[in-house]
Amino acid sequence: MKQEIGKKRIIIAIDGPAASGKSTTARRVAQQLGYTYIDTGAMYRTVTLKALQQGVLDDLRNSPESVSSLLQDIVIRFDGDRVLVDGRDVTAEIRENRVSREVSFISSLKPVRDRLREMQREMGRQRAVVMDGRDIGTVVFPDAELKIFLVADARKRAERRYAELIATTPKGTELPDLDVLEEEIKRRDRDDAEREHAPLRKHPEAHEIDTSDLTIERQVDIVYNLALEIEKDDR
Ligand code: C5P
Repeated sequence: MKQEIGKKRIIIAIDGPAASGKSTTARRVAQQLGYTYIDTGAMYRTVTLKALQQGVLDDLRNSPESVSSLLQDIVIRFDGDRVLVDGRDVTAEIRENRVSREVSFISSLKPVRDRLREMQREMGRQRAVVMDGRDIGTVVFPDAELKIFLVADARKRAERRYAELIATTPKGTELPDLDVLEEEIKRRDRDDAEREHAPLRKHPEAHEIDTSDLTIERQVDIVYNLALEIEKDDR
Protein backbone atom coordinates (compact mmCIF):
# COMPACT_ATOMS: atom_id res chain seq x y z
CA MET A 1 0.00 0.00 0.00
CA LYS A 2 1.30 3.48 -0.85
CA GLN A 3 1.91 6.09 1.83
CA GLU A 4 -0.78 8.77 1.49
CA ILE A 5 0.54 12.29 1.05
CA GLY A 6 -0.03 14.47 4.10
CA LYS A 7 -0.52 11.52 6.41
CA LYS A 8 1.58 11.34 9.55
CA ARG A 9 4.53 8.96 9.23
CA ILE A 10 5.09 7.21 12.52
CA ILE A 11 7.59 4.84 14.10
CA ILE A 12 6.29 1.49 15.29
CA ALA A 13 8.55 -0.20 17.84
CA ILE A 14 7.94 -3.90 18.43
CA ASP A 15 9.86 -5.51 21.27
CA GLY A 16 9.62 -8.82 23.06
CA PRO A 17 11.41 -12.08 23.84
CA ALA A 18 12.74 -14.54 21.25
CA ALA A 19 10.25 -16.07 18.81
CA SER A 20 7.28 -14.13 20.19
CA GLY A 21 6.12 -13.31 16.65
CA LYS A 22 7.83 -9.94 16.30
CA SER A 23 9.36 -10.28 12.85
CA THR A 24 6.33 -11.83 11.14
CA THR A 25 4.05 -9.20 12.64
CA ALA A 26 6.43 -6.33 11.92
CA ARG A 27 7.03 -7.41 8.31
CA ARG A 28 3.32 -7.69 7.51
CA VAL A 29 2.32 -4.48 9.27
CA ALA A 30 5.05 -2.64 7.37
CA GLN A 31 3.80 -4.08 4.09
CA GLN A 32 0.21 -3.03 4.79
CA LEU A 33 1.22 0.51 5.76
CA GLY A 34 3.79 0.97 2.99
CA TYR A 35 6.50 1.34 5.66
CA THR A 36 10.04 -0.05 5.84
CA TYR A 37 10.63 -3.06 8.07
CA ILE A 38 13.89 -3.17 10.03
CA ASP A 39 14.89 -6.36 11.83
CA THR A 40 17.41 -5.22 14.44
CA GLY A 41 17.95 -8.79 15.70
CA ALA A 42 19.40 -9.54 12.25
CA MET A 43 21.91 -6.73 12.80
CA TYR A 44 23.14 -8.24 16.09
CA ARG A 45 23.27 -11.60 14.34
CA THR A 46 25.51 -10.27 11.56
CA VAL A 47 28.07 -9.03 14.10
CA THR A 48 27.91 -12.43 15.84
CA LEU A 49 28.42 -14.26 12.55
CA LYS A 50 31.42 -12.07 11.77
CA ALA A 51 32.94 -12.90 15.19
CA LEU A 52 32.37 -16.62 14.61
CA GLN A 53 33.88 -16.49 11.13
CA GLN A 54 36.93 -14.65 12.33
CA GLY A 55 37.28 -17.11 15.24
CA VAL A 56 37.51 -14.30 17.80
CA LEU A 57 34.71 -15.23 20.21
CA ASP A 58 36.99 -16.59 22.92
CA ASP A 59 39.28 -13.56 22.63
CA LEU A 60 36.24 -11.31 23.00
CA ARG A 61 35.17 -13.04 26.19
CA ASN A 62 38.57 -12.23 27.67
CA SER A 63 38.85 -8.71 26.28
CA PRO A 64 35.40 -7.45 25.22
CA GLU A 65 36.76 -4.03 24.20
CA SER A 66 38.52 -5.62 21.22
CA VAL A 67 35.07 -5.93 19.60
CA SER A 68 35.68 -2.45 18.18
CA SER A 69 37.85 -3.88 15.41
CA LEU A 70 34.94 -6.09 14.28
CA LEU A 71 32.71 -3.05 14.06
CA GLN A 72 35.16 -0.72 12.42
CA ASP A 73 34.10 -0.91 8.79
CA ILE A 74 31.04 -3.10 9.04
CA VAL A 75 28.33 -2.31 6.49
CA ILE A 76 24.92 -3.85 7.21
CA ARG A 77 22.28 -3.50 4.53
CA PHE A 78 18.74 -4.77 4.06
CA ASP A 79 17.64 -5.56 0.54
CA GLY A 80 14.01 -6.65 0.72
CA ASP A 81 14.08 -9.80 2.84
CA ARG A 82 17.82 -10.29 2.39
CA VAL A 83 20.48 -9.20 4.85
CA LEU A 84 23.90 -8.23 3.54
CA VAL A 85 27.00 -7.66 5.59
CA ASP A 86 29.98 -6.11 3.86
CA GLY A 87 28.22 -6.87 0.58
CA ARG A 88 27.74 -10.59 1.29
CA ASP A 89 24.30 -12.21 1.55
CA VAL A 90 24.10 -13.77 5.04
CA THR A 91 20.30 -14.14 5.26
CA ALA A 92 20.38 -17.91 5.92
CA GLU A 93 23.62 -18.08 7.90
CA ILE A 94 22.55 -15.59 10.58
CA ARG A 95 19.58 -17.85 11.48
CA GLU A 96 21.79 -20.87 12.20
CA ASN A 97 21.66 -22.14 15.76
CA ARG A 98 25.39 -21.54 16.34
CA VAL A 99 24.64 -17.82 15.83
CA SER A 100 21.54 -17.89 18.05
CA ARG A 101 23.61 -19.43 20.84
CA GLU A 102 26.21 -16.63 20.85
CA VAL A 103 24.18 -13.58 19.88
CA SER A 104 23.19 -12.61 23.43
CA PHE A 105 26.83 -12.37 24.43
CA ILE A 106 27.73 -10.16 21.46
CA SER A 107 24.68 -7.96 21.97
CA SER A 108 25.57 -7.40 25.63
CA LEU A 109 28.75 -5.53 24.63
CA LYS A 110 28.45 -1.76 24.90
CA PRO A 111 30.45 -0.83 21.77
CA VAL A 112 28.20 -3.13 19.72
CA ARG A 113 25.03 -1.59 21.14
CA ASP A 114 26.33 1.97 20.69
CA ARG A 115 27.22 1.38 17.06
CA LEU A 116 24.04 -0.48 16.07
CA ARG A 117 21.80 1.96 17.95
CA GLU A 118 23.22 4.81 15.88
CA MET A 119 22.70 2.85 12.63
CA GLN A 120 19.11 2.09 13.67
CA ARG A 121 18.36 5.72 14.50
CA GLU A 122 19.72 6.72 11.12
CA MET A 123 17.55 4.10 9.38
CA GLY A 124 14.46 5.49 11.16
CA ARG A 125 15.31 9.15 10.68
CA GLN A 126 12.57 9.68 8.09
CA ARG A 127 10.10 7.67 10.20
CA ALA A 128 7.59 5.36 8.43
CA VAL A 129 9.41 2.33 9.82
CA VAL A 130 8.42 -0.75 11.75
CA MET A 131 11.43 -1.79 13.80
CA ASP A 132 11.58 -4.92 15.93
CA GLY A 133 14.04 -5.93 18.63
CA ARG A 134 14.52 -5.82 22.39
CA ASP A 135 15.15 -2.14 23.16
CA ILE A 136 13.45 -0.24 20.34
CA GLY A 137 10.69 1.34 22.44
CA THR A 138 12.90 1.82 25.51
CA VAL A 139 16.22 2.99 24.06
CA VAL A 140 16.43 3.37 20.28
CA PHE A 141 13.16 5.25 19.72
CA PRO A 142 11.60 6.09 23.09
CA ASP A 143 9.55 8.67 21.16
CA ALA A 144 8.02 6.00 18.86
CA GLU A 145 4.34 6.85 18.43
CA LEU A 146 3.35 3.20 18.75
CA LYS A 147 5.09 0.77 21.07
CA ILE A 148 4.22 -2.91 21.17
CA PHE A 149 5.50 -5.59 23.51
CA LEU A 150 4.81 -9.12 22.28
CA VAL A 151 4.95 -12.09 24.63
CA ALA A 152 4.11 -15.79 24.29
CA ASP A 153 4.38 -19.00 26.23
CA ALA A 154 7.97 -20.42 26.06
CA ARG A 155 6.88 -23.84 24.74
CA LYS A 156 4.86 -22.24 21.94
CA ARG A 157 7.84 -20.07 21.04
CA ALA A 158 10.13 -23.11 20.91
CA GLU A 159 7.64 -24.89 18.62
CA ARG A 160 7.58 -21.89 16.29
CA ARG A 161 11.37 -21.72 16.15
CA TYR A 162 11.49 -25.48 15.52
CA ALA A 163 9.07 -25.19 12.59
CA GLU A 164 11.17 -22.32 11.23
CA LEU A 165 14.35 -24.41 11.48
CA ILE A 166 12.71 -27.33 9.68
CA ALA A 167 11.66 -25.00 6.89
CA THR A 168 15.04 -23.31 6.50
CA THR A 169 17.62 -26.02 7.29
CA PRO A 170 18.90 -28.17 4.41
CA LYS A 171 17.54 -31.75 4.47
CA GLY A 172 19.74 -34.19 6.38
CA THR A 173 21.03 -31.56 8.83
CA GLU A 174 20.54 -32.60 12.42
CA LEU A 175 18.03 -30.43 14.28
CA PRO A 176 18.15 -29.62 17.98
CA ASP A 177 15.63 -31.32 20.23
CA LEU A 178 12.49 -29.27 21.04
CA ASP A 179 13.28 -29.33 24.79
CA VAL A 180 16.83 -28.12 24.11
CA LEU A 181 15.47 -25.37 21.89
CA GLU A 182 13.07 -24.27 24.64
CA GLU A 183 15.91 -24.16 27.18
CA GLU A 184 18.08 -22.12 24.76
CA ILE A 185 15.26 -19.65 24.17
CA LYS A 186 14.69 -19.24 27.91
CA ARG A 187 18.39 -18.76 28.54
CA ARG A 188 18.60 -16.13 25.78
CA ASP A 189 15.61 -14.27 27.26
CA ARG A 190 17.23 -14.34 30.67
CA ASP A 191 20.54 -13.07 29.30
CA ASP A 192 18.77 -10.34 27.29
CA ALA A 193 16.68 -9.24 30.28
CA GLU A 194 19.50 -9.28 32.82
CA ARG A 195 22.24 -7.54 30.85
CA GLU A 196 23.54 -4.17 31.94
CA HIS A 197 23.07 -2.22 28.69
CA ALA A 198 19.63 -1.83 27.11
CA PRO A 199 18.04 -4.92 28.70
CA LEU A 200 14.84 -6.44 27.33
CA ARG A 201 12.10 -4.49 29.09
CA LYS A 202 8.54 -3.40 28.39
CA HIS A 203 8.17 0.37 28.06
CA PRO A 204 5.40 1.54 30.42
CA GLU A 205 3.44 2.91 27.45
CA ALA A 206 3.80 -0.22 25.33
CA HIS A 207 0.74 -2.28 24.42
CA GLU A 208 1.40 -5.80 25.64
CA ILE A 209 0.01 -8.52 23.38
CA ASP A 210 0.17 -12.22 24.26
CA THR A 211 0.44 -14.11 20.95
CA SER A 212 0.33 -17.65 22.46
CA ASP A 213 -3.17 -18.29 21.15
CA LEU A 214 -3.43 -15.70 18.40
CA THR A 215 -3.23 -16.38 14.70
CA ILE A 216 -0.70 -14.34 12.77
CA GLU A 217 -3.57 -12.60 10.97
CA ARG A 218 -5.12 -11.53 14.29
CA GLN A 219 -1.89 -10.16 15.78
CA VAL A 220 -1.13 -8.27 12.58
CA ASP A 221 -4.65 -6.84 12.61
CA ILE A 222 -4.34 -5.60 16.20
CA VAL A 223 -1.07 -3.74 15.53
CA TYR A 224 -2.22 -2.44 12.13
CA ASN A 225 -5.43 -0.99 13.60
CA LEU A 226 -3.55 0.68 16.45
CA ALA A 227 -1.22 2.25 13.87
CA LEU A 228 -4.10 3.48 11.71
CA GLU A 229 -5.68 5.18 14.70
CA ILE A 230 -2.48 7.08 15.46
CA GLU A 231 -1.97 8.07 11.82
CA LYS A 232 -5.58 9.30 11.66
CA ASP A 233 -5.33 11.20 14.92
CA ASP A 234 -2.79 13.53 13.49
CA ARG A 235 -4.36 14.39 10.18
O1 C5P B 1 15.17 -11.02 17.23
P1 C5P B 1 16.25 -12.07 17.27
O2 C5P B 1 15.84 -13.29 18.05
O3 C5P B 1 16.76 -12.42 15.91
O4 C5P B 1 17.46 -11.36 18.06
C1 C5P B 1 18.65 -12.03 18.28
C2 C5P B 1 19.33 -11.47 19.51
O5 C5P B 1 19.82 -10.16 19.23
C3 C5P B 1 18.51 -11.32 20.77
O6 C5P B 1 18.44 -12.52 21.54
C4 C5P B 1 19.27 -10.24 21.53
O7 C5P B 1 20.36 -10.79 22.24
C5 C5P B 1 19.82 -9.38 20.40
N1 C5P B 1 19.04 -8.17 20.17
C6 C5P B 1 19.24 -7.09 21.00
N2 C5P B 1 18.62 -5.91 20.77
C7 C5P B 1 17.77 -5.79 19.74
C8 C5P B 1 17.51 -6.88 18.89
C9 C5P B 1 18.15 -8.07 19.14
O8 C5P B 1 20.02 -7.19 21.95
N3 C5P B 1 17.17 -4.61 19.51
